[in-house]
Amino acid sequence: MFKLYLLVLTISSYLISTIDLSLGRFDDLQWLDLNGELSLDISDVKTASLDFGGMNRVEPLAVLYPGSVNDVVSLVKSAYDSSESISRGGFTVSAKGHGHSINGQAQTRNGVVIDMSGLKGNRFRGKTKPVLGAFNKTGEKYVDVWGGELWIDVLQWSLEKYGLAPKSWTDYLYLSVGGTLSNAGISGQAFNHGPQISNVYELDVVTGKGELLTCSEDKNSELFHGVLGGLGQFGIITRARIALEQAPQRVRWIRVLYSDFSVFTQDQEYLISLHGKPSSEKFDYVEGFVIVEEGLVNNWRSSFFSPSNPIKISSLNTGEGVLYCLEITKNYDESTANTIDKEVEALLKKLNFIPSTVFTTDLPYVDFLDRVHKAELKLRSKGLWDVPHPWLNLFVPKSRMADFDRGVFKGILGNKTSGPILIYPMNRHKWDQQSSVVIPDEDTFYLVALLRSALDSGEETQTLDHLNNQNHQILNFCDEEGIKVKQYLPSYNTQEEWKNHFGDKWNMFLNRKMRFDPKHILATGQRIFQPSF
Ligand code: FAD
Repeated sequence: MFKLYLLVLTISSYLISTIDLSLGRFDDLQWLDLNGELSLDISDVKTASLDFGGMNRVEPLAVLYPGSVNDVVSLVKSAYDSSESISRGGFTVSAKGHGHSINGQAQTRNGVVIDMSGLKGNRFRGKTKPVLGAFNKTGEKYVDVWGGELWIDVLQWSLEKYGLAPKSWTDYLYLSVGGTLSNAGISGQAFNHGPQISNVYELDVVTGKGELLTCSEDKNSELFHGVLGGLGQFGIITRARIALEQAPQRVRWIRVLYSDFSVFTQDQEYLISLHGKPSSEKFDYVEGFVIVEEGLVNNWRSSFFSPSNPIKISSLNTGEGVLYCLEITKNYDESTANTIDKEVEALLKKLNFIPSTVFTTDLPYVDFLDRVHKAELKLRSKGLWDVPHPWLNLFVPKSRMADFDRGVFKGILGNKTSGPILIYPMNRHKWDQQSSVVIPDEDTFYLVALLRSALDSGEETQTLDHLNNQNHQILNFCDEEGIKVKQYLPSYNTQEEWKNHFGDKWNMFLNRKMRFDPKHILATGQRIFQPSF
């Protein structure tokens, strides 16, 4: 099956042609027999130096648009070999999925960025090869996809052909499979299915030594666990085997409001405790967000509340001026359409939101999953998408959420947020502790995502400096109060900080690095390890 996959990828092969590889460290690359293209074109180099965060800009020496998995192998092998000799000079290699990192994580200096979307003008996109049928004794279905594939394409392919879909999502689908699996991949389904890294059966990985290895729970398991949540440190994911389920047809999407934080979190925690129940007795997605300013009930991630039914926040008893919105969904199809109303009603009855603040909409499953893209298009049309994004994502232990609320939502943030603030709990046991990702040491922990945009609006509270300062204040506050948060999509500058981040997992992480990328060639944009040349 994989041979066939490679065949498809190599049909459009062509050899590297008139590229000037006069730079000493690239001498070896002139002899690489590539199916794709190694580009020194200034506009390609510039594009590779950008990311969604818009705050870091590091230009690589070249960009590889791979035409096959062999191109990835050849390039990494060449980087590994060239680092042997000082006279030949070494170079680094970073995979770039869709460049939606915040702090330059997919960038590299003195090296080559591999644009995992594939050949220019002939991307891999949409060329996933589903493999259906019994996978194991329980008959689970899966799809094999190229590591640079976007989740939106994985969804469209598996849905259109077979009515199937992955189980665990991110809120936004224009992210690459390899990029989210290198972090965790979370959304409102994580309480139930675990993060995306808990929904992968097998990977093909090109290690920092240039070896192409297949890995899973049973085969090369150290590599498998290391790469999942591994921040690109141990290898480049070229294929992922992702768990699928029967896709629902429609979604009932509900938002309810709270003014009391402890009531809000109790309800969220109750809802995620239902993960083991039959699907008729639980919601399929549990998220939430914080509203610290009037007008943000509709935020950029999705305009939801109908303008003909505006919420007058001032009319609600908001106590200290902060509202909390619980966001839940229930999936259904033809066979359950006649019971959905009753099931939703029964679940809502158990919750303690402010009466008369139930806002409901109903839409096709794909439209729900792709909701953030609609907001993206709107923001793009107003020139508000390509702006700096000093995002801060934290995992906060459940036991300290009330302190976090007091100090951050009702304290440091003031009454301006400059973007949505997500907050939702997850169950720790749905996360495999052997993976590289770091989460708090409590059975339940929350994601708090401050997804803010810096604008040149003349308002001080919207500037990049102001938002960065607030992020530092939040981290300092947690430090001083002993709130043991862990950064999600972490960003640090020194190895000391990284050691602190990984805590008990640091030695395992270091050993995996020595084993799979001993020369520290890969993903240097994470600033965890320096290349050894
Ligand atoms: P890139 O930024 O290209 O790369 C990220 C890191 O992974 C880099 O270190 C890179 O070298 C490495 N990498 C990339 N591809 C590979 C590969 N094939 N093999 C090995 N390493 C690789 N995250 C969530 O969990 N949930 C969300 O709901 C969510 N929503 C988001 C919404 C938006 C609008 C944005 C901008 C980001 C969101 N994210 C979310 C964060 C996102 O998951 C990460 O930023 C992810 O890394 C982005 O994927 P990418 O393909 O753009 O990765």
